[in-house]
Amino acid sequence: MGRPAGRKDLLRLNPWDARRERRSRSRPFRLGSARRTACYDATFGRASHPLARVSDMLETATEPAVDFELTAEQRAVRDAARDFARKAIDPIVEEIDEAQRFPLDEFRQAGELGFLGIIIPEEYGGAGMGYIEYALVISELAQVDPSVGLSVAAHNSLCTNHIYKFGTEEHRRKWVVPLASGEKIGAWSLTEPGAGSDAAGTRSRAEKVDGGWLLNGAKTFTTHGSVGDLCVVFAVTDPDRPRHQNVSAFVLEKGMDGFRPGKKENKLGTRASDTAEVIMENCLVPEDHLLGERGEGFAQALEILDGGRISIAALGLGIAKGAFETALAYSKEREQFGRPISSFQAIQFHLAEMSTRIAAAEALIMAAALEIDDSRPVTRLAAEAKLYAGETAVFCSDLGVQIHGGYGFIKDYRAEKFFRDCKICTIGEGTSEIQRLVIARQLLRG
Ligand SMILES: Cc1cc2nc3c(=O)[nH]c(=O)nc-3n(C[C@H](O)[C@H](O)[C@H](O)COP(=O)(O)OP(=O)(O)OC[C@H]3O[C@@H](n4cnc5c(N)ncnc54)[C@H](O)[C@@H]3O)c2cc1C
Repeated sequence: MGRPAGRKDLLRLNPWDARRERRSRSRPFRLGSARRTACYDATFGRASHPLARVSDMLETATEPAVDFELTAEQRAVRDAARDFARKAIDPIVEEIDEAQRFPLDEFRQAGELGFLGIIIPEEYGGAGMGYIEYALVISELAQVDPSVGLSVAAHNSLCTNHIYKFGTEEHRRKWVVPLASGEKIGAWSLTEPGAGSDAAGTRSRAEKVDGGWLLNGAKTFTTHGSVGDLCVVFAVTDPDRPRHQNVSAFVLEKGMDGFRPGKKENKLGTRASDTAEVIMENCLVPEDHLLGERGEGFAQALEILDGGRISIAALGLGIAKGAFETALAYSKEREQFGRPISSFQAIQFHLAEMSTRIAAAEALIMAAALEIDDSRPVTRLAAEAKLYAGETAVFCSDLGVQIHGGYGFIKDYRAEKFFRDCKICTIGEGTSEIQRLVIARQLLRG
């Protein structure tokens, strides 16, 4: 076979659609509320499914190695995320990646479907679900576009969850409600140029003044740093106290004097997820924008990162699955030496290794999600899930390109994009090295 015609159709192949069709005929979709059901039905009628033209290929798709016996509702959530990703995101993936364009309209649609407040209770406009559902959604989005998966993750478990967990009732009404619906876009700024892995090395300052706090400093690598409406920012309020007790968290709103985005980063991967500097220059923040107690910002950040790491693990899982499925499909189509490359043992071993690691990553993520949903300590398990799934994303994306040969190296094939996007999973919300430190610390605790 030469360069295959219509190859992009293959890349849009949805492996489990056929099974889903068999299982869920006429099952109503519900994510938190009837309002969203109506919205979903109106937005994505099944008749307009863009994958209909490749439906004959779907019968040959892989089954997941592990059956987690999802509830009917969890399957509905997963399927809804899959449909949204395939119908709303897939057609624009290449364009938004190339242009580094944040897909604002589609992000708002995700909000209308309940994907921007998944772990937030319904009384604050969320879907009232847990981390199992959350991980399912992020993984499905990432299989189509890791940029969207990353943005949805940062919005949900960093910004929105931080305000929900540590804010007052008034904070929740004022900020969590519009964040959960997607009316407002959330950002969370911890990292600074001099304080990345060493997050307690924060230099941004918040000085107590009449009427509030005066913030000065610069944050780097903030997801939604330039498109965000609300930003949770960490700054030193008590320089004389020990490093882990001197930082506090504040909510900054777009348009506040002295608060502005800095440079938007030009990135290797997840290019459609906005990443920018955040600058504070004599920014006067009202007293009641302080989240929780003064000096507990670092402890809050660690707690938020426990949940956030499960979402980055799910992002890695989705990327690994996407890379695997596209490589598997390609290996059956591509012929060399007069036969499909999937008939070569070397390729089979690559596929077997990818599939095994994906199953293991999925099991770790589900275990971590169960723990956090049951309110049990999850620091070690979340770090283990994030470490393993992140490394699995890189492993599978690398082999995905390898199985595609030269075609994996060019942008006509999603393998190339998974290869670029996967690397964020071993860096964001704590590098792989830092995950190992966190795990080891938990193991060696007295
Ligand atoms: C696309 C993207 C989105 C991001 N979004 C956000 C966001 O929304 N909010 C936010 O606050 N941050 C965000 N970040 C920042 C991210 O969390 C940091 O990049 C990450 O924590 C690493 O920090 P650093 O880049 O300063 O690397 P460094 O800390 O400088 O690390 C450099 C290298 O040294 C290693 N290293 C450092 N310390 C140790 C140690 N003690 N032991 C062993 N090895 C070590 C690291 O593992 C790494 O390999 C984002 C980053 C990217 C790229």
